[in-house]
Amino acid sequence: MAEVALTSVGKVYPDGTRAVTDLNLSIADGEFLVLVGPSGCGKTTALRMVAGLEEISEGEVTIGERVVNRVPARDRDVAMVFQSYALYPHLSVRDNIGFGLSLRRLPKSEIREKVEKAAGILGLNDHLDRKPRNLSGGQRQRVAMGRAIVREPQAFLMDEPLSNLDAKLRVQMRAEIARIQRDLGVTTIYVTHDQTEAMTLGDRVAVMKKGELQQVAPPQELYDRPANLFVAGFIGSPAMNLIQGTLAGDAEAPRLEIGGHTLTLPAGVLAERPGLRSRFGDRVAVGIRPEDMEDAELVEAEDGARLTSTVELVEAMGSDVLVHFALEAPQVVTEDTKELARDAGTDVLGALDGGDTPRTDLVARFSPRTRVKVGDPVEIHVDTGRLHFFDIETGASIW
Ligand code: ATP
Repeated sequence: MAEVALTSVGKVYPDGTRAVTDLNLSIADGEFLVLVGPSGCGKTTALRMVAGLEEISEGEVTIGERVVNRVPARDRDVAMVFQSYALYPHLSVRDNIGFGLSLRRLPKSEIREKVEKAAGILGLNDHLDRKPRNLSGGQRQRVAMGRAIVREPQAFLMDEPLSNLDAKLRVQMRAEIARIQRDLGVTTIYVTHDQTEAMTLGDRVAVMKKGELQQVAPPQELYDRPANLFVAGFIGSPAMNLIQGTLAGDAEAPRLEIGGHTLTLPAGVLAERPGLRSRFGDRVAVGIRPEDMEDAELVEAEDGARLTSTVELVEAMGSDVLVHFALEAPQVVTEDTKELARDAGTDVLGALDGGDTPRTDLVARFSPRTRVKVGDPVEIHVDTGRLHFFDIETGASIW
């Protein structure tokens, strides 16, 4: 096992496409790092450069103590797990798992021992003599994992290993991968576009956009302290609501004006985000997580923490209720939010062109005890201590 480090790594493909720019990442010995980002952001390219499957155009990759830029893939001592399991159909599970070891001409008894140990970890003991076609998708994925495990590599490199599984199996295998990685303590880099997978699996999560690292942090920190609008919008489902507002009042009594409403900000906000002190009178991008809003009927009434609107859509999820409404306030439109909207298939600019009154759609996550119905007027309590603030031009978090 080993530390893996990328230092100023860049990739330009032969056709001139720049896929990765100045990527700096250091994955500690035994750490599980998830690389996440929308399609095309360069995460697979980054992983393939570590694996040795893609030439490194700029910078340096080290595995353990060794700079591996010029080391061929087979000598890097890493094991790759792909989304297509790439199993040999004519070989049994046993021989699929042991294939790499046979190539290395290990003694038969040693191969048998390693394969059976891996099969035990993966719950495949009863299937060792089957062919891949007689396995379920989840079992095939396990065989692919088994092949990586028996090699006892310095690092696991996984590229969307669960994306061919159905939703339920994906959740199961996710837990399994987490358990196996913990048990084996192998340094792991895991690529996915699925932010839930990233959040649940990673010791730390690295968010990429257009070849550039946006932020790398433990999942909860990424969620609570996103570095910019892109990370804020990408991590979390439903996504963080983003809306324009104006910071009003002063350091003694800070307020936020949005859509004709005034929210009183707790004094602690300025201690947590001193950067706001120089923003009074400025427009800012405000982020509100859906769960930081609640049906005002269900909470202790608090002045200065309420929005009013009309319910436009109610989605009962069982454990909670998603309530859609709109405020008469301009949307946050930056390159980042446009991109996130494109990814989510929604049309930010279309809504902007729609009329003279600015309007932003929001989603709140109410408790299931709510009685609100479509068309009802609704009072929404906002947890004003949990608001996020971003520079309207650059999209950077205001700290
Ligand atoms: P996905 O989740 O869709 O696989 P990704 O984040 O893993 O996306 P990459 O596959 O690393 O992204 O691709 C990054 C960029 O590099 C994209 O713009 C892609 O079109 C481009 N790219 C990938 N492979 C090549 C190649 N062989 N030649 C030229 N451009 C490439």
